[in-house]
Amino acid sequence: GAFKHHPQAHSTPPRKKPRVSGPAEEPLEPIQEHRRQLPIARGKDALVQEIIANEVTVLLGETGSGKTTQVPQYLLDAGFAEQGIIGITQPRKVAAISLARRVSVEQGQPLGTRVGYSVRFDERASAETKIKYMTDGMLTRELLGDSLLSKYSVIVIDEAHERTLRTDLLLANLKRILRLRNKGEDGKGKGKARNPLKVVIMSATLDAEKFSQFFHSAKIIYVKGRQHPVKIYHSAQGQQDYVDAALRTFFQIHIDQPPGDVLIFLPGQEDIESLEKSIELFANQLPQGHPEVMVVPMFAALQASQMPRVFAVPQNNARKCILATNIAETSITIPGVRYVIDTGKGKEKRYLAGNTGGGLDTLMTRDITQSSAMQRAGRAGREGPGFCYRLYTEEAFAAMLPAAEPEIMRCSLAQAMLQLLCLGQDLQELDLMDMPDHDAISSALRTLFLLGALDSHRELTPLGRAMASFPLEPTHARAVIASKELGSTAEVLDVISVLASSSKLFVDATDKRAEIAEARRALIHPAGDHLTLLNTVRAYRAAGVNGEDDDGEAERRKEAKGKGKVGRDARKEWARAHFISERTLREAAAIREQLCVSCERAGIDWRVSCGEREEPVLLSLAHGLAQNAALIAPDGTYKQIMGQTVVKIHPGSSMADKKVPAIIYDELVYTNQIYARGVSSISKSFFATLGAFNRREA
Ligand code: ADP
Ligand code: MG
Repeated sequence: GAFKHHPQAHSTPPRKKPRVSGPAEEPLEPIQEHRRQLPIARGKDALVQEIIANEVTVLLGETGSGKTTQVPQYLLDAGFAEQGIIGITQPRKVAAISLARRVSVEQGQPLGTRVGYSVRFDERASAETKIKYMTDGMLTRELLGDSLLSKYSVIVIDEAHERTLRTDLLLANLKRILRLRNKGEDGKGKGKARNPLKVVIMSATLDAEKFSQFFHSAKIIYVKGRQHPVKIYHSAQGQQDYVDAALRTFFQIHIDQPPGDVLIFLPGQEDIESLEKSIELFANQLPQGHPEVMVVPMFAALQASQMPRVFAVPQNNARKCILATNIAETSITIPGVRYVIDTGKGKEKRYLAGNTGGGLDTLMTRDITQSSAMQRAGRAGREGPGFCYRLYTEEAFAAMLPAAEPEIMRCSLAQAMLQLLCLGQDLQELDLMDMPDHDAISSALRTLFLLGALDSHRELTPLGRAMASFPLEPTHARAVIASKELGSTAEVLDVISVLASSSKLFVDATDKRAEIAEARRALIHPAGDHLTLLNTVRAYRAAGVNGEDDDGEAERRKEAKGKGKVGRDARKEWARAHFISERTLREAAAIREQLCVSCERAGIDWRVSCGEREEPVLLSLAHGLAQNAALIAPDGTYKQIMGQTVVKIHPGSSMADKKVPAIIYDELVYTNQIYARGVSSISKSFFATLGAFNRREA
């Protein structure tokens, strides 16, 4: 075997029966019993007393002890919702939605009433909402409309150890807000504050001291978890192909080991989907007598409606196998897990600031940190002794970084900076836990200046303010605003909504390259990927109206009667036949609706279309992507306009083998070379009109 040791097989009691199929159907009483059994429940009263007595409380506890689901409910019971909303932030959208759903079940109330959530492009909350789960990004956006966050009586910053950029910005702002709201410095006189705020910082790792110091030695409280021992196995040699190694390890466990669910950590959606297919394929070929396998994927782009499957209890003694990104590391605890397989890989956002401009945002698969590896292993010991199979050597573990660098030190700051400027704040003057790099700051300033959000005195322009009003990256917001004058808003929204969604539009399968190319031929636009994307969105929509091989008239009658099923089926079939992700298209449609609302607020008519004319679409996009542009050099390579880096067009692009005078692109990806992805051809004269050349530092 690939492992140094093999655990001895020993018998465990069979799963308890009967088991119900999902959280929503569970009767309330077992749920209340489950709540009482959580480790945090014993300390409830003491915990609430501490939060009442202190302005800021740092709560440290093992993952799964009940912090995220219980603390807000304890605060509700203690009457905190009488003066305002109890808000809880999460770094990830799926986690916020899943937790809100769980807590609304625990409260026995429909989601969106007493318990709600708010994430980018999606909200389920109402005037009744007392407990609101939200992404840290959403709460940062709320600052723009209400700089004191006065709706909230308590703000819980959860998963603070992840140190996302938004969490760091919130921590800095909370310090300011506490001073204004609690010390009577809000100009409404000194003395007793009328609208006091409590802050609770929650973390799963042992870094409480730093948070406590940041908030003037705030009180630290520890919650003891219920961690059982986990036996860790390292692989004897390094694994070249971690997906394949995970597959083999899973079946070793499935065939030889006693019951218990398996949690496999992988870097991202692509690996998850490929492993999902292989496990299902092999599981179907197992001889009779082996329990079935229930494979459940779990990643950021997953639709919220698919999340409950993660918590569903498999039928017929099947073994559940969860394929997850680091979302299952600390944010979401799945019951029943006994075996963890850790590939040792994760995706990390990293910004490479260029010294001459045109820095690049990258999302790279990298080795995880020791802290992550320990969290991952811990997931196996929640309900009893567990086992963790690391697909890397002990030496590789020793070589990992102890903990991740805060995101503010390694990501693009343009959007955050723009938001801060709208609040009248300057990133460089903010009281942050860690200060970002000088290069990253100047690179963000340059981007904002090029987009026209800042003038030459570093002052925010009206255009910049308008850009900040969109829940989009500044580059995308700029394109939407440009579309107003160019008369192409309908088309630009079609494109941007796909670019802003969380997963890829075009499905790849190496074994079907020729078939895929043939199926998509009609969608490809000679000007490149953006208009190809537009063709795709339009064709998908049309498939729903006419139903390609359907009787169009019957279809229209059905739609008119409010029965859209045939249209939906036709669209689904169309997407499948063209190897296009329907999930992405549906997410994009939802995003588009939200963007229409933002457009209306910004005085942009989202119905205005440029029809079949393509230039207005490309020009609008180019206003946003001006920094992501390259010109062809005499030797046939493309050179970035900003920064002079040589870039190659990604082989997956419709422009891959073409030579045109100038291109714009969505992003650069780093593998062995620098590739531009999402590429369109653009006329060279555009740059002269835009002034990108004039503004370029000589
Ligand atoms: P912590 O924040 O301390 O890591 P949580 O409050 O997230 O702990 O989790 C407490 C418990 O609630 C865990 O045992 C977890 O399995 C359970 N839980 C959370 N969400 C769900 C859900 N959707 N369905 C069933 N159980 C859930
Ligand atoms: Mg938690």
